Amino acid sequence: MQLDRLWEFMQVDMEADKFEAQMRQSPNRQKLIKQRNFIMDQQTSMKKLEADVAAMQDRLEAIGDEARRLENVLSSMIEELEKNPPEALEESARRADAAMRLADTLAHYEQELAKMRKDADARDRQQKEIRVRAAKTKQEYDQLKLVYDQEFKQDTSKLTKMRENIDREAGKIDPELLRRYRSIKEHCAPPMARLVDGQCSGCFMSLPSATLRELKLGEKTVECDNCGRILYDPKD
Ligand SMILES: [Zn+2]
Repeated sequence: MQLDRLWEFMQVDMEADKFEAQMRQSPNRQKLIKQRNFIMDQQTSMKKLEADVAAMQDRLEAIGDEARRLENVLSSMIEELEKNPPEALEESARRADAAMRLADTLAHYEQELAKMRKDADARDRQQKEIRVRAAKTKQEYDQLKLVYDQEFKQDTSKLTKMRENIDREAGKIDPELLRRYRSIKEHCAPPMARLVDGQCSGCFMSLPSATLRELKLGEKTVECDNCGRILYDPKD
């Protein structure tokens, strides 16, 4: 009698658990989580790009300063050469050589600066794309969130009613039996199993004859030797 009641109780209990699991699996909820993660990824990429741009800006300035300094050195060298052309051939060659090396370095800096400007343009485009993508996703997220909030409200109210019903039904069950049921449920759900052809229908193990005998006597609650579920053998 108590087991019949517990079996009925288990049906509503399992139904509520299933409904709660479905709520977590809700396609709208899953989609919102995905969109939120995407937006967060975009924010991370954005921060990284901003840090890259700041570092590049520093380097651009440093190279620019150094290039200007070298330009000044080079013009003074040329000015000096024109004003006081060295008489010795060797000295003349040495200075011309130094001026060429400087010019080479400057050309190298110019190249690097041009490349960095190109990279900066690419990063600008990338930032714009990220901003557009993130804004679009945010808009979709906000719209879906409104729908989902409504869905969640309805589902929560349904679940609350189910849980209230469960609490009412629980009140009709022997507290000790209910305590066992709940403790088994923590590691094994559903926590009850029918006896079918001498087998536990929870884990499909054939039950030893001692267990079957105990069950037939019906004097106490019998649990499966293998999975620990409460065995249920409806009389009719
Ligand atoms: Zn079992």
